[in-house]
Amino acid sequence: MTAAAPLTATAPTRQQPACWDVDPELFFGVADSAEGQPVFAWEQRAVAICAGCPVLVKCLAAALEFPVDEQHGVVGGMTAGQRRALLRTSRQQPARSSVTDTPRDQRRLVQAAVRLHQAGQNGRQIATRLQAGERQVQRWLAAYRAEVLA
Ligand code: SF4
Repeated sequence: MTAAAPLTATAPTRQQPACWDVDPELFFGVADSAEGQPVFAWEQRAVAICAGCPVLVKCLAAALEFPVDEQHGVVGGMTAGQRRALLRTSRQQPARSSVTDTPRDQRRLVQAAVRLHQAGQNGRQIATRLQAGERQVQRWLAAYRAEVLA
């Protein structure tokens, strides 16, 4: 399996990714910042490009399908270290049944919201990251909490 890559590399969509015309080198530096450590300047520049991307949610969800040790570069608006941290955290607290009963895309969004929440981001930050409404994010997290506590 290859490492997580920007969506442009594998799945062109009707909405043009923000990195479409950008040199891929900008998204893959010589070294990734470590989990929990300050991000490098090149990573900040790439994340800024992702912030305006119309396919950010799909790109992030696709990247999170890859294992921890195959996360490299900035993909889906997050550095490799940030994605590794999310994946490690989510492995410690897997989602429960009613969340996984929802349609596949919805499930990915819920899982992404939970991972971001577990990584310390607040509702507004998660909503911005996933391009969702803040209330929607709170509903996802509340449903997840209800399942965990049931
Ligand atoms: S989210 Fe970032 S890496 Fe993914 S397609 Fe958009 S600009 Fe490219």
